[in-house]
Amino acid sequence: MNCNIVTIPGDGIGPEIVREACKVLDKVGEVYGHTFTYTEVLMGGCSIDAYGVPLTDEALETARKSDAVLLGAVGGNVGNSRWYDVAPQLRPEAGLLAIRKGLNLFANIRPAYLYKELADACPLKKEIIGDGFDMVIMRELTGGLYFGERHTEEVDGVLQATDTLTYNENEIRRIAVKAFDIAMKRKKHVISVDKANVLDSSRLWRKVVEEVAKDYPEVTLEHMLVDNCAMQLVMNPGQFDVVLTENMFGDILSDEASMITGSIGMLSSASLNETRFGMYEPSHGSAPDIAGKDLANPIATVLSAAMMLRYSFDLDKEADAVEAAVQQVLTEGYRTADIWAEGCEKVGTAQMGRLIADRIR
Ligand code: NAD
Repeated sequence: MNCNIVTIPGDGIGPEIVREACKVLDKVGEVYGHTFTYTEVLMGGCSIDAYGVPLTDEALETARKSDAVLLGAVGGNVGNSRWYDVAPQLRPEAGLLAIRKGLNLFANIRPAYLYKELADACPLKKEIIGDGFDMVIMRELTGGLYFGERHTEEVDGVLQATDTLTYNENEIRRIAVKAFDIAMKRKKHVISVDKANVLDSSRLWRKVVEEVAKDYPEVTLEHMLVDNCAMQLVMNPGQFDVVLTENMFGDILSDEASMITGSIGMLSSASLNETRFGMYEPSHGSAPDIAGKDLANPIATVLSAAMMLRYSFDLDKEADAVEAAVQQVLTEGYRTADIWAEGCEKVGTAQMGRLIADRIR
């Protein structure tokens, strides 16, 4: 298979971690007979330096024509960087919003998986962790409260602010279809999270999700209220497989789910549109405090590349091989500084990438 990948290294540790993910992809190509071709474009602070804007139309167009995008991270030290003395739409992070919108990436997938080797970093008690957990949060990314009409006004001398939460059935259906498709590649269990006891938008959400479920008889569907879900995530995380939810609930629950894995350098993510196209990136930022020091953990980006293989290229076997290689490196006791523990061997960014690539079978 020939795959055209646009890479966006971005700022801070971005170039270091994307380099390692490409190293791993190249090894996958070698072992499984695929060709990955990379076209690099600028986004974020580096694009501001080169072109005066965080994302050029040309860069967006190049990304649009590719099969998938692999992103590092954008942004500098917010309190102390030349990129922030400008209007919000000219700051590095505006590039992110522009590319998500420009590529119509409405479905955000964030896995939360507990490696037993890193279980000590999990803030939950051992009896709650049990055999660990392995879930993905599927969050709607371009609708709901964050995109609704909003205003602040004075009513009878009192300030009043209004935000509106709107979803139409098409927006719900397309994200539900993504969630059920992904459940078919996993344990075939969707928990749809809403607030249907209060919100009309949630009642419509539930109705449409139930309609979509009829096309997936092998997948079990459950509904859960968002407040209960927030509790269940820390009481019994092992029960979740695919969590399907709207934008704001997903924003909060995905952070909660990632927190219980205990390590930000391990968390991958994907944002998909209606086709197989997706943008894949670690959940963390550009970590300017450790940039250029060979300290960054590249695993979140490597695992994001594995998601690219699985969801954009349908290469499940190859994605499994990347995930198994990460698992093996951890089992053998190699750790970057952020996840290091007594008795383990500390390695830098480049060595971690090499160790993973060497274990692709
Ligand atoms: P951050 O995620 O960059 O860093 C938080 C802490 O985690 C830091 O101590 C950092 O050293 C550490 N860390 C993060 N990733 C790591 C890795 N792979 N290996 C080892 N340690 C890691 O968050 P922040 O400091 O709040 O933000 C820094 C910049 O990143 C800001 O400009 C912010 O706007 C930007 N940001 C970008 C994205 C993105 O591009 N998607 C996401 C979040 C933040």
